Amino acid sequence: MKNIAILGSTGSIGTQTLAVVDEFSDIKVWGLSAGSNITLLEEQIRKYRPTLAVVYDEDKGKVLSEKVKDLGVKIETGMAGLLHLATMIEVDTLVTAIVGMIGIRPTIAAIEAGKDIALANKETLVCAGHLIMPLAKEKGVKILPVDSEHSAIFQALRGNEEKAIDKIWLTASGGPFRGKKEEDLLAVTVSDALNHPNWSMGHKITIDSATMVNKGLEVIEAKWLFNVPIDQVEVIIQPQSIIHSMIEYQDGSVMAQLGMPDMKLPIQYALFYPERRRMKEERLDFRSLKSIVFDNPDMDTFYGLKLAYIAGRRGGSLPTVFNAANELAVKLFLNQEITFLEIYQIIEDCLRHHTVIENPTVEEILRVEQETYQRINSRR
Ligand code: NDP
Repeated sequence: MKNIAILGSTGSIGTQTLAVVDEFSDIKVWGLSAGSNITLLEEQIRKYRPTLAVVYDEDKGKVLSEKVKDLGVKIETGMAGLLHLATMIEVDTLVTAIVGMIGIRPTIAAIEAGKDIALANKETLVCAGHLIMPLAKEKGVKILPVDSEHSAIFQALRGNEEKAIDKIWLTASGGPFRGKKEEDLLAVTVSDALNHPNWSMGHKITIDSATMVNKGLEVIEAKWLFNVPIDQVEVIIQPQSIIHSMIEYQDGSVMAQLGMPDMKLPIQYALFYPERRRMKEERLDFRSLKSIVFDNPDMDTFYGLKLAYIAGRRGGSLPTVFNAANELAVKLFLNQEITFLEIYQIIEDCLRHHTVIENPTVEEILRVEQETYQRINSRR
């Protein structure tokens, strides 16, 4: 029996994780959590009967407690609730499907408690990879990537050693604005940016895909997961999202992982690793596919990707500034308070004005996050 808890069960990755759970009789869900969507969380509680459900929002937690009092499920709120969920005694794998830096503390708590991590929450690794990867090693827990690119690399690494890697080719769809130039992006709307060609995802990552900041976060994520210098990770556009990423080894051999653009595959792989289970979804059909195409990323127009390389190369607290500035800028864009291109300007401004802290602690990371938000808010 696989025993899991899900941080962010009401989101895109969370609901797809539960869709995978529905396919198999040997996964038990002990904990569910949401930010505020108690309508969906209640449905999930009624279906999966966890022992603990967490709503970050305290008032919503009270309402939910009342609604499910017939079920005997414990309802908790806030960070204390997330930390409890992350360390539940019954759980062996925590699925981190929560969005943003809020995932840092529960992920670290889960590793300290010896839980394996099925990691979707890339922001956590971007900001705290220097703490998380050594801690996972020390505690002997697995960090199993859920991000499709990192799952692809993880799969292409089986049977080989990390030190034989020459280059990681991180594929990118290019998002809805692939091929556009700066002048085309001046007036794009929120709904233009949310219209991803291949993937249906949460709002934040969909905007990150449109800016290509997502790919930048993934470059830093790959550096931590696979222990390679950042300049060994190269982005290549593969608009069909069929090659999910590749490893070029020192002997010139390239191992790629291919599949349909469906997140249930990497989620399932992470949950059952090292086993592979049958998946009944649509398969790739090479006869109708005919060609797989590539292109170079345009880092001048989509310069959030360039900024990610700068932040990742410098390291310390700079990736936290990159991530925090992006998190707030994306919120402001989604609220139609800034333009699409201002997302890059905000990130660049915050990076320029930060004095880097080497090897920041969790407290320092969270302080830098707040300082970054304050800088952005004070300049508006
Ligand atoms: P969504 O926005 O769809 O879902 C986010 C989840 O986190 C929701 O359950 C949300 O609850 C919950 N949440 C948000 N804030 C809080 C909080 N303060 N406390 C507790 N829970 C909270 O995001 P995605 O599923 O798209 O993405 C999740 C993570 O996975 C991100 O880090 C993303 O980069 C990564 N990822 C996503 C992919 C995808 O295909 N979607 C692919 C690869 C990686 P509520 O519903 O109540 O708001």
